[in-house]
Amino acid sequence: MESQTLKELDLSCIWHPCTQMHDHEANIPLIPIKHAQGAYLYDFEEKAYLDCISSWWVNLFGHCNPYINAKIKEQLESLEHIIFAGFTHKPIIDLSRRLLGLLDSKFSKCFYADNGSSAIEVALKMAFHASALKGEKKSKFLCLENAYHGETIGALSVGDVGIYTEVYTPILLQTLKIKAPSGEDIEESLAQLKQMLAQHKGEIAAFILEPLVQCAGNMNMYSPRFVQEATHLCQEAGVYVIFDEVAVGFGRTGSLFAYEQCNVVPDFLCLSKGITGGYLPLSVVVTSDAIYQLFYAPYYEHKAFLHSHSYTGNALACACANAVLDIFEKDDILNKNRILSDTIWEQMQNLKSFDFVQNLRYYGMIFAFDLVGFEGKRKGLEVFNKALKKGLLLRPLGNTIYLMPPYILTQEEVRYILQSLMAILPTLRG
Ligand SMILES: *Cc1c(COP(=O)(O)O)cnc(C)c1O
Repeated sequence: MESQTLKELDLSCIWHPCTQMHDHEANIPLIPIKHAQGAYLYDFEEKAYLDCISSWWVNLFGHCNPYINAKIKEQLESLEHIIFAGFTHKPIIDLSRRLLGLLDSKFSKCFYADNGSSAIEVALKMAFHASALKGEKKSKFLCLENAYHGETIGALSVGDVGIYTEVYTPILLQTLKIKAPSGEDIEESLAQLKQMLAQHKGEIAAFILEPLVQCAGNMNMYSPRFVQEATHLCQEAGVYVIFDEVAVGFGRTGSLFAYEQCNVVPDFLCLSKGITGGYLPLSVVVTSDAIYQLFYAPYYEHKAFLHSHSYTGNALACACANAVLDIFEKDDILNKNRILSDTIWEQMQNLKSFDFVQNLRYYGMIFAFDLVGFEGKRKGLEVFNKALKKGLLLRPLGNTIYLMPPYILTQEEVRYILQSLMAILPTLRG
């Protein structure tokens, strides 16, 4: 049958991301998808999989969303992509003005790239370069343990999720790390931050963190108080602060951007993932006029920020991002999400009846719990496979099960997800 052929052809020539390909021999199926609609992916037998993780946290308003599709088609008829140095276009001007309108007034410039990791590279380089332009010799970056900022060398260097970073340690930048906060447990992290800032006074270009939730770090959720106090400490010490909102931006934590809940504004804000509703790669680093002005000088002073990517500012991706902002506005998404989030959280309480379900937690539209007492066993993988059979796409992080669904789930779908989990979990005993 067609699906089997596609599967064999795929495995004959493709090396998938974040995958031990050997797992496809027996542990994990490879599923060719024929089409997708709304919150569902459909395979070649028309079996539906409810996308509970927004296809790696990118899809906000469903697959093949009619409104976004129409906006991309419209854009495709006039301009697909052009060089973004020396030339510009309306979709990106509209997008930048709209983003800045939604952000704190400190932000005044948008620098584009084409994926989350690239945005992190841009922010790190800009922070270092800005310090250098001020005559400072700051070559260190400070980050949190358990952090994830992407997979390129710079981004990996400020990350700390062992399975991704460990083997590359010899080729990574040396970075300073402090204990990650967890829940209200923030004092030790703040103490370590103070100590680092004192010990490495004048050496640290920037502190980078994922505000509120370390997503790839097993959905570690923590208090906005840490973000607030840590940002104050850094900014008082003359250390730039970079917020990586690649995963938590665009409504994930309940507010449009996570920093809004923390009463502070970083020097650099990195956005990607949800920015195009899961359609096309795009990312942006937003920063202040103060930073921008450091680089602004006659050509022969050699102060320009010369970073570039071939697909920077892709017009189709920008049209798509504008469509996403339209939907946030016209469908009152943040308010609707509040109701949806409450419903999911309420129904999740039933999971507490299993003693091995621990640390049930949520922020806005991110929900997670840990399976404890199964050390060394791939119980998350077992949940993944059993959920697939029930038509649910989950993709646990180790033994942390999480939901990061698109914002269009119905009450019925929420019930189905939780009923399925209630049926799957008891089968894990032993
Ligand atoms: C996914 C992610 C990145 C990297 O984005 P890519 O587009 O996958 O390169 C960076 N930071 C965070 C917090 C992420 O979740």
